[in-house]
Amino acid sequence: MYDVVIIGSGPAGLCASIYAKRAGLRAVTVERNFISGGQVVNTYEVDNYPGLPGINGFDMGMKFREHADKLGCEFQTATVQAIKKQQGKNQMLLQAASIESDKEQDNQGTFIVETDKGILETKCVLAAMGASHAKLGIPGEEELSGMGVSYCATCDGAFFKGRTTAVIGGGDVAVEDAIFLARGCEKVYLVHRRDELRAAEILQRELKSLPNVEIIWDTIALSIDGKDQVEALQIKNVKTGEKSELSVDGVFVAVGILPQSELLLDVTVCDEKGYVVAGEDGVCKTPGIFAAGDIRTKKLRQIITAAADGANAITSVQEYLLKNKI
Ligand code: NAP
Repeated sequence: MYDVVIIGSGPAGLCASIYAKRAGLRAVTVERNFISGGQVVNTYEVDNYPGLPGINGFDMGMKFREHADKLGCEFQTATVQAIKKQQGKNQMLLQAASIESDKEQDNQGTFIVETDKGILETKCVLAAMGASHAKLGIPGEEELSGMGVSYCATCDGAFFKGRTTAVIGGGDVAVEDAIFLARGCEKVYLVHRRDELRAAEILQRELKSLPNVEIIWDTIALSIDGKDQVEALQIKNVKTGEKSELSVDGVFVAVGILPQSELLLDVTVCDEKGYVVAGEDGVCKTPGIFAAGDIRTKKLRQIITAAADGANAITSVQEYLLKNKI
């Protein structure tokens, strides 16, 4: 029986592993891939984490993992398929006597975490599964995925050296991707649906200084065309209604993230966008379930806030275990 099963090994999960180990909790971190770090490993450069200016995202993920390994944190590579709550003794007694209670001292149920490698029994679950790339849902996007349509410039950008690409989106990721691609591509279009970017000012400044980047404002993508490979992007100016075609070899979609919270929908509360409802302390609506990082409702989704979440959530796990004497 674990004190806590941490699901996910991005900055939130890895930081939680470190804090759990240091707190003397019996913890295991379940990760789907052999490479830890989550979304960070696909980031070319991270320049806003104190003490590590300009670090490569992959190196940062490795550093976090090395730290956890050095402390002896336990990891399992497996895919979690379900999280199930088992009733505690008090709850069963109350139910038998037909008494309803939501008192905290009755929160003594444990959880079964089912994975493709077996079952884990735990007193608490810490959800740190992060988020995945949102899709545009336009014709050609799915059909040409991997054939010029990509969601990761640092993974696939090298294939487009000396060629023309388009990035869709106006957030930090879109602007970082365009800057990264501009280093190797002959020309990069940034297609954004509004007349203002939401990316950090420092990134916008760098982007606008690049001679081979052209920002196409107030424009949406209609379809991605090509036979076996991307050949063109059809676009429409939302202010004038004018349609046109960009001749491109690659399209990088960077239109935000979607929380990977499917596993939690039956065991706790998520908001209308799928983010797990939890405050800074990581406490979810279901006793014994905690959330940290991009998966939870929060204002600022950054590496540093994900790492902080991991620390806060483990503190809440400790308090929960103490309070409920389990
Ligand atoms: P984001 O900040 O949500 O930006 C998504 C962008 O895509 C927005 O510009 C949005 O347009 C646009 N968009 C959304 N749906 C669209 C659609 N259907 N068609 C066209 N455009 C669409 O997402 P993100 O850039 O992936 O970043 C995710 C989170 O990670 C953010 O909180 C971000 O700050 C953080 N992050 C931080 C760093 C860093 O600190 N260095 C790096 C990467 C990511 P509108 O602007 O019109 O809404």
